Amino acid sequence: MNSIACPLLRVGIMLLTTALLSTPGISCAQEISHPQPKLILQITVDQLRGDLPTRYYDRLGDGGFRYLWENGIVYRNAHHAHANTETIVGHATLATGAHPSGHGMVGNLWFDRESGFTVYNVEDPRYRLLTEGADVDEEAEIDPTQRAARSEGRSPAAILVSTFTDELRSSTGGKAKVVAVSVKDRGAISMAGHSGTAYWFSKASGEFVTSTYYLNQYPEWVIKFNQQRPAHRFANTSWDLLHERSSYLFGDSDDREWETDVAGFGRVFPHNYGDGSSPYFTTLLTLSPAGDRLVLDFAKLALVEEQLGMDDVTDYLSVSFSATDYVGHVFGPSSLEGEDNILRLDRTIAELLAHVDDHVGLTNTLIVLSADHGGPDSPGYLNSLNIPAGYVDPDSWDRDAAIARIKDEFDIAGKLIETYEHPYLYFSAEVKNNPNIDPEVLEAKVVDELSKFHGVSLAVSSAALRRGNLPETDLMRAVINNFNSKRSGDVFIVFEPNWFINDFDGLTVASTHGSPWNYDTYVPIVFAGAGLAAMTVDRKVLTVDIAPTLSAFLSIKPPSGSVGEPLVEVTRTAGR
Ligand SMILES: [Zn+2]
Repeated sequence: MNSIACPLLRVGIMLLTTALLSTPGISCAQEISHPQPKLILQITVDQLRGDLPTRYYDRLGDGGFRYLWENGIVYRNAHHAHANTETIVGHATLATGAHPSGHGMVGNLWFDRESGFTVYNVEDPRYRLLTEGADVDEEAEIDPTQRAARSEGRSPAAILVSTFTDELRSSTGGKAKVVAVSVKDRGAISMAGHSGTAYWFSKASGEFVTSTYYLNQYPEWVIKFNQQRPAHRFANTSWDLLHERSSYLFGDSDDREWETDVAGFGRVFPHNYGDGSSPYFTTLLTLSPAGDRLVLDFAKLALVEEQLGMDDVTDYLSVSFSATDYVGHVFGPSSLEGEDNILRLDRTIAELLAHVDDHVGLTNTLIVLSADHGGPDSPGYLNSLNIPAGYVDPDSWDRDAAIARIKDEFDIAGKLIETYEHPYLYFSAEVKNNPNIDPEVLEAKVVDELSKFHGVSLAVSSAALRRGNLPETDLMRAVINNFNSKRSGDVFIVFEPNWFINDFDGLTVASTHGSPWNYDTYVPIVFAGAGLAAMTVDRKVLTVDIAPTLSAFLSIKPPSGSVGEPLVEVTRTAGR
């Protein structure tokens, strides 16, 4: 075998290997023999539980999920391995190949002991948004009365390790172009890493925005896109069913009492967006497939205008679709809205793939699709099938009689629990600063009591997590994977399966993810394009495997905190 048998080796590798290849018996290494893709397209669907695309498979069209499932390498038993299955936690895990213990994004929110404030994961007052008045307070997304004192400005500074995109940029001397797009700031910022460019949708301004961390001024194409007022073309329109109602699994059960009516959007089709004058107008767009449509339009333009995948240096485009998450929260995944949203998402993905095919070619594009987390069915839906499920309210725990007894015992006059930022209880400053209170003893007492609470499956103290002498169970491993000593709270809470808080940014909702149970950890992982051969894999794999797989595919070093393993079906696919 000689170098002619490996015509597509990277130049740097070729120089090194030419001598080896002329030696009899040494064959061309498969893992470095595929052509370098021109583009990595990473699609992340927020709250896409692993079973949802195939549940509606018979009604999917061509070119979307079907293209991926029928032409790609499909991992049917893929899971997140951390306990707090929330948006930033999952996105950062996909981006870095690290667990939250390493990348530091332990929750969408955490309590910062130094400042005494709850911190939102990508907030950073040093980097204001480039658009005046575009700041979106996460807690104010749905109910402005819930506005908390949060800083404006956004950056990825709180992500403690490198992302795959950082490695791609640094391995190419900054020549690889990296663009990430999402409705949610955290859905874009995480994937762009520290060195790419992130754009997200501002509900306040109805435009796509970024912060001064990334750019000092918008490119001309972003200005033009926003000048067309992309959100306002949905004014006086509605979200209607894509197909005949009778063809839907949930066609005869549109109006369910556990679904949420957000700002008059209603529980039944058609869901009207209104005339555009309501302060909730842009929020309603994101609660429906319109949010994904906006992201798709922006991502398609970004591909062309930034010339992604159009030279010999591998570029990267991340598209994170959030409608599935909002629809899941508001209506539940097993609802007519959830079903129609998946069918429309399928069309959205088909349009994205067709666009990439037109401009880059899918054979030149390595596609990976996954999700930041799965999601539970709503308790109302489960109860209707006699499956136990319910809601818990940690905000009431500080007033519970059992906690009151502990306060008496330790002579605590005020609050014991400062705040619950899922999934952590943070003790009050009074408790933390009292030299007469042994934190380990107090934590152990609280853990003992909370473990008896209705809806609580497991409570673990941070002292126990630090010491590490814990039972070797998958559940405990997921809790440990989520533990970062600077950001995690004093007690980690795991609710019973199908029990959760029904508060979402101040709104009572149908369902909330964020547990270590299978419905929340189970996500699709599909690699496709770039000459990969179709294959289905039932071996259990983890979402931390994605970033090191992308690195191995390109023969670049894995992200700094990556603990995953390259997926051999992707890196060593034969026949290329
Ligand atoms: Zn969510």
